[in-house]
Amino acid sequence: MDRVLPSTRQRLTAPAPAASRKAFIFIISAPSGAGKTTLRKAALAVFTDMRYSVSFTTRPPRPGEENGRDYMFVTAPEFEAGIRGGRWAEWARVHGNYYGTSADVLAQSLESGCDILLDIDVQGARQICARFPESVTIFIMPPSLEVLRRRLVLRGTDRPEVIAMRIENAGREMAQRDVYRHVVVNDDLETAITELIHIIDSYRHGG
Ligand code: 5GP
Repeated sequence: MDRVLPSTRQRLTAPAPAASRKAFIFIISAPSGAGKTTLRKAALAVFTDMRYSVSFTTRPPRPGEENGRDYMFVTAPEFEAGIRGGRWAEWARVHGNYYGTSADVLAQSLESGCDILLDIDVQGARQICARFPESVTIFIMPPSLEVLRRRLVLRGTDRPEVIAMRIENAGREMAQRDVYRHVVVNDDLETAITELIHIIDSYRHGG
């Protein structure tokens, strides 16, 4: 990240005193393959005092994914018990699996004045915004569905029918981008990272 953002990093050496102001909820959404994970990691590397909400999911881990870091991997009965028990601040079924945000983690962050980043889909973003209308929503767009399809094929982690489902879902999600306050097109990765960081920074510094 140093190579990508030297000037931005220097400017951010003194983080805003989170405890003295209201904490922000930053929500990023994107179709899978739009580069969201890379962008999210870049933002968290810069804003080291910002918390990341690790989602719960019933999707099986992908190679390289770690329980507790990338997701909290749970069974469908565990997730469904969480629905009944009011454990999720929001939840949705995406690509045939459950995904949800811990209500406790979100509440703790807000209470302690700590900004929190959520990487969730459009359905989840709508639910969080209904409860927290001041949430800062950012949609990451791939340059086109064709570029997205190529990225998913190159990533090689999903079967062809899963890729087809993700592309279909991407089209539906991209049609809802007006729900978001900000849209970042991930055509050139370095430019997209810089844009995302500037958006987050502008709220944290009250701009
Ligand atoms: P993936 O399986 O590719 O990691 O994620 C699939 C989709 O689920 C992505 O759009 C991702 O943003 C979304 N997602 C991940 N965690 C959550 C969550 O906690 N809630 C909701 N609503 N969507 C999530």
